[in-house]
Amino acid sequence: MGASLAGVHAAEELRAAGFEGELTMLSAETEPPYDRPPLSKRFLAGHCGEEELSLRPVDSYAALGIKLHLGATATGLDLGRREVHTQDGTVHPFDGLVIATGSRPRWPAALPRLAGMHTLRTAADARRLADEFAGSPRVAVLGGGFIGAEVAATARGLGLEVTIVEAAPTLMSRALGPSFGDLMVRIHRDHGVDVRCGAAVVDVTGDIRVDGLMLADGTRVDADVVVVGVGNAPVTGWLASSGLELDDGVVCDETCATGVPGVVAAGDVARWRHPRLGVTRSEHHSNAVEQGMAAARTLLGQAAPYAPVGYVWSDQYEHKIHALGSWQPGAETRMIGPSLACFVREGQVVGAAGIDARREVMRLRKVIEQGEPCPVSTG
Ligand code: NAP
Repeated sequence: MGASLAGVHAAEELRAAGFEGELTMLSAETEPPYDRPPLSKRFLAGHCGEEELSLRPVDSYAALGIKLHLGATATGLDLGRREVHTQDGTVHPFDGLVIATGSRPRWPAALPRLAGMHTLRTAADARRLADEFAGSPRVAVLGGGFIGAEVAATARGLGLEVTIVEAAPTLMSRALGPSFGDLMVRIHRDHGVDVRCGAAVVDVTGDIRVDGLMLADGTRVDADVVVVGVGNAPVTGWLASSGLELDDGVVCDETCATGVPGVVAAGDVARWRHPRLGVTRSEHHSNAVEQGMAAARTLLGQAAPYAPVGYVWSDQYEHKIHALGSWQPGAETRMIGPSLACFVREGQVVGAAGIDARREVMRLRKVIEQGEPCPVSTG
């Protein structure tokens, strides 16, 4: 259920692990599965074509004996009958189910949704935003996390005037912590972005179309286009009356199994018990791939604890940001190189991040996996 990264990897892993039965993938989207990372970067900038977005050649699903139903939005799950229901009234019976319905952007409750205001999650969202950017608008980005920082960098690369409005004291701080976030603020300011941290939007101005944002400190940000990137929420509405345990996602054990035999979850929608980190949910690319595969193996009776270190990357301007593990509340950031940091909690390294330092970050994988103390320098 769900034919994005986690769903596709789950289906492929089922086949790779020897499952020979009937395999169906249901997707709410009307276009074949595609890859999301380029959407806020190269695709939005017009540097990569539609064909490069495709996750797999379209005939590869049939070649694996996978029936792909597009535009099939799930509306309900009947666990007694073991059926998924879709919006066109079709009933899809199953013996085993992988729930991989992903997440969708949140929208701040107090803000109206005027023309010119966008979120960025799907390829269709990216096309709409690219069309807007072609008109050389002044851009305001609400939220300075991954989406906000990447969209801001892309917009500046196109020569647009950009303001970021972020509630936290710094950029990308949820994943990278406050000190590393300060490095990100400097990069964006050096590239001409007006970065407003610790700022709250209290109103949107404009009639039919947005023309600005009013901030809590009384200042105004003029904007022809607003991109809202304030985090995502797991897509679980269709499961509300299913009886599955839901809590900001589908609740799973260490092996991605729900409390119902033969029902597993993976990707953005899965809240599972990570053996080292405790109960968590991850919306990142590498997790969708690895958890999709792990959930598929659990479904086939090959369950093992799913304990990824977690890896993210981001391209902004000429820089590549890489992180393993993550900063966690209470963690201290120790710089062990000019743009290389370890996140240390209770004496153990729980994450690392670097700017243009991929190899150095990757070398810290074992240190994070084994919870070792922080190295003085990576040499
Ligand atoms: P995100 O990375 O969680 O960042 C959202 C940011 O918006 C946070 O810094 C948050 O601050 C801030 N925020 C929340 N409410 C706000 C408000 N009302 N006004 C101003 N700022 C506000 O989420 P995202 O950027 O929307 O991305 C969505 C998901 O896609 C995330 O899980 C992200 O990791 C993923 N993604 C990943 C990549 C990548 O891996 N390269 C790229 C794009 C998207 P607080 O933390 O203080 O709430």
